[in-house]
Amino acid sequence: MKITFIKPTIGRREHSLYVDEGRMEPLMLAVLAGLTPNDVDVALYDDRMESIPFDEETDLVAITVETYTARRAYEISEEYRGRGVPVILGGMHVTLLPDEAAQHADSIFIGDAESLWTTVVDDARRGKLQSRYVAPPGVAQFPNVLPRRDLYKGKGYLPMSLMQYTRGCRFACSFCAVSKYFDKKHYIRRIDEVVREISEQNRKFIFFIDDNIATDRKALKELCRELIPLRIHWISQASLDVTKDQNLMKAMADSGCIGHVMGFETITPGSLRDARKAPNISGFSNYQHEVRILREFGMQTWAAFTLGYDNDTYDSVLATMEFALKSKFTFAAFNILMPYPNTPLYNKLESEGRLLYDGKWWLHPEYRFNQAAFVPKNMAPDELTDACHIARKKFNSVFSLMYRFSDMQTNLKTLWRAASYWRYATLFRKELYKKHKMRFGLK
Ligand code: SF4
Repeated sequence: MKITFIKPTIGRREHSLYVDEGRMEPLMLAVLAGLTPNDVDVALYDDRMESIPFDEETDLVAITVETYTARRAYEISEEYRGRGVPVILGGMHVTLLPDEAAQHADSIFIGDAESLWTTVVDDARRGKLQSRYVAPPGVAQFPNVLPRRDLYKGKGYLPMSLMQYTRGCRFACSFCAVSKYFDKKHYIRRIDEVVREISEQNRKFIFFIDDNIATDRKALKELCRELIPLRIHWISQASLDVTKDQNLMKAMADSGCIGHVMGFETITPGSLRDARKAPNISGFSNYQHEVRILREFGMQTWAAFTLGYDNDTYDSVLATMEFALKSKFTFAAFNILMPYPNTPLYNKLESEGRLLYDGKWWLHPEYRFNQAAFVPKNMAPDELTDACHIARKKFNSVFSLMYRFSDMQTNLKTLWRAASYWRYATLFRKELYKKHKMRFGLK
């Protein structure tokens, strides 16, 4: 028996294919491959950089689906099903919208696939694949199973190993699909398993792709203690409230943490309330304290903003960029607020009749990457799209790159950091222009 795992791309540029040069390892597919019994052959194809050999023989195709890749995932599924090969879809988007996904597959997986993956394989082997498998989210990564990193070979992923320590987040931001998926709960993996996984691969640069690695500060401190002897560099995603705990900041810095993706979201207090961004709201003072602490501990911060709340204006979007530049963030993302299906934000905009693209921007043939998918209160959708693009362009201008590079506390702290800064700053700048207004799907 053979199972083919597929990671879909988002889509294509208007007149050419798109190759994602900033692609990272598809960790969850490697975890599922690791859980697959040894007598089953597995293959992994990454649609972001290679053609999928639809005619190659296989007995089951498993596709991971995110909201941004749903259109392409359904296209791939149809190719295989047209050839009589059964397809199972899983991932966050499938759990958020199971009925939509079910129309495009023989079977769907709702929840964390690890818990029932061996059942799926057994059923497929007997030709008795069920139409739905439901395993409510609520497991940490399984013990005694290492991801099949050998499947990544030759695919040109960024030179950092992706891993997970926790899943989920205790907060409930209104726009966040993670919060909806995990219902504000989080799950922690055994530390000895994490240490083993780091030790059994060669890389010294680790990206913990946890939704919020700081969701449980005590657990994070324990992890930091165990990481010190491994002498690695690591990054993750963390909520801003970590800056309130100096011991935790020190523990992270001592263990090799060089920074996080952090959700600043907005500099407008009213928008913070709209976002229900609890970790940022308490004691809000324009992030002066948070930025100072992050710099004091040498964190190369990737600041993530979501823009387009009811309190936002064209000018406030541009002011956000000025704030990011003044703060000398190593990287920053100026994301348009996106109504992910079934989130509180989506439901609110739907009830107010403000959703565009029939409320399904992820499938709509006219929707383009980085476009507003709803009607903002204080500007036209195109104005929001333009303001965010201008913010991205200015933050990634040559002047801005040099200005941010000159920060002795963060980007110039070591030679390794300086080199990483240039490598990724130039890559992100290039990808920004390539992806802008890209079509979803290839057809
Ligand atoms: S803190 Fe981050 S992960 Fe947690 S609910 Fe908010 S946006 Fe989602």
